[in-house]
Amino acid sequence: MSDQCLFCSIVAGNVPSVKVAEDDTTYAFMDINPGSDGHMLVIPKRHSKDLFEIPADDLTAVTLAAQRIAKAAVAEFDADGVNLLNCCGADAWQTVFHFHLHVIPRYVDKTRDRLVLPWQPGTPGDIEAIVTLGSRLSATLDGRLSATLD
Ligand code: 5GP
Ligand code: ZN
Repeated sequence: MSDQCLFCSIVAGNVPSVKVAEDDTTYAFMDINPGSDGHMLVIPKRHSKDLFEIPADDLTAVTLAAQRIAKAAVAEFDADGVNLLNCCGADAWQTVFHFHLHVIPRYVDKTRDRLVLPWQPGTPGDIEAIVTLGSRLSATLDGRLSATLD
């Protein structure tokens, strides 16, 4: 636990939150500035700063919890879909530096949903750049996904 961390303080009960569910390793609560009706956050109880730092067991637990919560939210709120979002780094919109997954129910009814896509869907990219970047990363990863990414 980090004394300076808002979400550690929420887990410890020192900052109030609207809890949705918890278990030994994860905690889910309502986002205070919801992008849609029912916007929630799922976090590990153990402090990790971000996606790069979180241990595999906590990441697995948070992801599985988010899946369960997403299913329940879509059913309970009669949502039309759901987005999971993680922001890693200030330039990628991270504002709280304790790993979290946003679970954001989505609605056709825009009175319940204020989200818009941050890129223009269907805008074709430069195929040469796509191939170059894909090849570079494939070489870095040696084409494998199972190895640890350090
Ligand atoms: P990020 O921008 O880091 O991906 O997301 C941080 C989220 O935490 C934001 O959606 C923000 O609304 C939420 N948040 C910030 N402070 C609080 C708080 O004190 N309580 C709750 N429940 N959510 C918060
Ligand atoms: Zn923390």
